[in-house]
Amino acid sequence: MRVNAYAAPAAGEPLAPTTIERREVGADDVLIAIEYAGICHSDIHTVNGDWGPQPYPLVPGHEIVGTVTEVGADVTRHRVGDRVGVGCMVGSCGECDNCRNGDEQYCRKGMIGTYAATDRDGTTTQGGYSTHVVVDADYVLSIPEGLDPAAATPLLCAGITTYSPLKHWQAGPGRKVAVVGLGGLGHMAVKIAHAMGAEVTVLSQSLKKQEDGLRLGADHYFATSDPDTFEALASSFDLVVNTVSAKIDVSAYLGLLAVNGAMVNVGAPAEPLSLNVFSLLSNRRTFAGSMIGGIAETQEMLDFCAEHGIVSEVEVIAADQVNEAYERVLASDVRYRFVIDTSTLA
Ligand code: NAP
Ligand code: ZN
Repeated sequence: MRVNAYAAPAAGEPLAPTTIERREVGADDVLIAIEYAGICHSDIHTVNGDWGPQPYPLVPGHEIVGTVTEVGADVTRHRVGDRVGVGCMVGSCGECDNCRNGDEQYCRKGMIGTYAATDRDGTTTQGGYSTHVVVDADYVLSIPEGLDPAAATPLLCAGITTYSPLKHWQAGPGRKVAVVGLGGLGHMAVKIAHAMGAEVTVLSQSLKKQEDGLRLGADHYFATSDPDTFEALASSFDLVVNTVSAKIDVSAYLGLLAVNGAMVNVGAPAEPLSLNVFSLLSNRRTFAGSMIGGIAETQEMLDFCAEHGIVSEVEVIAADQVNEAYERVLASDVRYRFVIDTSTLA
């Protein structure tokens, strides 16, 4: 079927309306009428070619919420009328050890990304800035009742990308967690770490968003532009989650870790990060990374958020405001996630 979408025609060019082809609904597929698509900074990195060449025209969007309108003959997991979500991944081999362990994002054959990836049938996947999408039902999440659909949309990437490392590195009571960068991922990290019971500190470039940070669940808030911050907080955190989309001074942040502390990078800047090894040796520190989360873990995160009343702070926009929204994200002027109302594409 031919559907309306918003696509980047070439690297760094403004997105524009277009139409794309969605495959026929196969036996294992569901057809989703998309209601909302979130704007992740990864969309911007990809469109701008920060991570290398891309297949254009490219429809971004890997935070997708909508309603099932058709199911394939073999689908039992979802029914017509269900509210569902799709995140960064629409396929994986399903057979390797990582897939079997629920770490499909680390599939040994490579997971299939929601956009700009080669699908099983050889076509290029196209993302959620669109009216409809056809996805293998095993990669489609159930949105719990009670979560506002627009505000729940960013959970599909920003939510799971922060939930997964927070859980893996045991954010919880008695643990001190710092979140670097209060953007889309950062504000979800604050809410989720707080709900897990950790003592949460925001490390933002300035104090501009301090009131918000404390309202979202942070216990403390510091400006990284103030050099005293790094002295005052030296050797104090068990976990530092870096969500910054640009290059930062990793060594300075490693210095904030207590003995056995870990700094986990979820931010994915275009430039390589460098560090002074001595900042790792001291306090037996770890520097790690983490990419989204598995399918079962994503469902667990959605259920956790429903239980704790957690959604994203969103600014809902029309599709023709996407380019302006990109500019604002790049200027750190987002509180805290733009979500496209895809009915404006119809
Ligand atoms: P975002 O909404 O733009 O948030 C990034 C935040 O980083 C900004 O709000 C800002 O926070 C801070 N920041 C930006 N530029 C900075 C600079 N030059 N120096 C210091 N701080 C700066 O982006 P996002 O959607 O949360 O994504 C964040 C990063 O995570 C991106 O690189 C994205 O590609 C990546 N990502 C990774 C995964 C994964 O699986 N690992 C998944 C999704 C996204 P303050 O204003 O508070 O300083
Ligand atoms: Zn994302």
